[in-house]
Amino acid sequence: MTVLRASARATRQGAAANFTGVVWQDEVVVARPPSRMRATVVSFTPGARTAWHAHPVGQVLYCLSGVGRISMGKGSRPQAIHPGDTVLIPPNTLHWHGAAPDRLFAHLAMSESGEQGEGTAWGEPVSEEDYRAEPAP
Ligand code: MN
Repeated sequence: MTVLRASARATRQGAAANFTGVVWQDEVVVARPPSRMRATVVSFTPGARTAWHAHPVGQVLYCLSGVGRISMGKGSRPQAIHPGDTVLIPPNTLHWHGAAPDRLFAHLAMSESGEQGEGTAWGEPVSEEDYRAEPAP
């Protein structure tokens, strides 16, 4: 058994190449093989979001606090997401997630690396036009 102490793991800022705005990441686990599980608490400041990206085995987001946005597929309207919501993202599907323009947002992000160890495939930043589209009701 291992206890990973919070005191031994500092909060890290999300890489500017993969996020717009200020995003903070608290690693929960990057499991050792044969597990391929990864989990991170991601805290987005208002207006912050991921770039377009896809996960080889999909992703599960569990919303913890604030008001968020999720959008799957270019040209589709974002949806508002709230604490207690769980979002299931299929494998190899372009999407982005982040905070509402005027609210903090935090989620627990859970995914597995691919069978060959591949991780998230990152694309271009989400444009202001795509991000600011009125969310679907
Ligand atoms: Mn994702």
